[in-house]
Amino acid sequence: MLQISELADGQQYPTGALYVVATPIGNAADITVRALHVLGLVDRIAAEDTRNTAQLLARYGIAKPLIAVHEHNERSAAERVIEHLRSGERLACVSDAGTPGISDPGARLVDAVRAAGFPVIPLPGASAVVTALSAAGAWVAGFTFVGFLPAKPKQRAAQLRTLANHRMALVFYEAPHRIVETTRALAEVLGGDRQLLIARELTKLHESLHRCTLAEGPTWLEGDANRQRGEFVLVVEGAPELEEADDAHDALLATLLEELSVKSAARIASTLTGASRNMLYDRALRLSKQQEEE
Ligand code: SAM
Repeated sequence: MLQISELADGQQYPTGALYVVATPIGNAADITVRALHVLGLVDRIAAEDTRNTAQLLARYGIAKPLIAVHEHNERSAAERVIEHLRSGERLACVSDAGTPGISDPGARLVDAVRAAGFPVIPLPGASAVVTALSAAGAWVAGFTFVGFLPAKPKQRAAQLRTLANHRMALVFYEAPHRIVETTRALAEVLGGDRQLLIARELTKLHESLHRCTLAEGPTWLEGDANRQRGEFVLVVEGAPELEEADDAHDALLATLLEELSVKSAARIASTLTGASRNMLYDRALRLSKQQEEE
């Protein structure tokens, strides 16, 4: 029988290449055999935070020269990486946790390395988005990964409005200090009825996966301070069939228009349904013109 470490040997590992290596998102055991093989093989490692990576590598008995490649120096650090590739070295790129380039540095480095004519070789592994989705259930068919929403309420609401009619499930990353505020904003803009999965501290000691509606989300989080601690992935059900939603909106708007102006009807319908006020205004305007013509 093959030794586990020999499993990774059956492949070519070209020199002068950048290996993009996923590392664990909390549990040090969640690293692949091939990732360990490549981290042991490369000449140096480009890391988001060299101290974190040195500590992680030490747990696997690996020590390598490290190059800091973070949000603020990705372009200049890419030049150093390319110099090493030019001299025939193999380099790996890792982030602090999970898959590089996914809400983490790495994408610009990949662009620069490819533009300089060197191969970029991805090694799959942990990522919080896929880990949460794997345990979400059948209500998530397709999905759109949004990552972090803007921190400022106005910009956050504006971005959410652009996603309000999106049919696929939406996946967000969020930090503990904004988790309640963000779930509340999601319910306000997308409506309270959609399914929500709150995936917290995945792969860690205090892992929890809680499913509820968007309206219930903030209340559940506020029910216990411990529920607001740690790292979060939020998975939100996609928008309902447009026709169904449109019919429901039109029925509500038609009733409101009996007593109110187009503007007020749209505002109240938006408060009641969580749907976009602009979209409801357009529908209300069309309905009121139709009513005038009849
Ligand atoms: N590159 C990483 C990946 O592949 O998932 C993501 C890095 S991003 C800077 C960090 C965010 O990912 C956290 O704020 C949280 O939203 C999410 N995240 C990372 N690890 C997580 C975990 N163990 N449980 C839940 N969410 C996690």
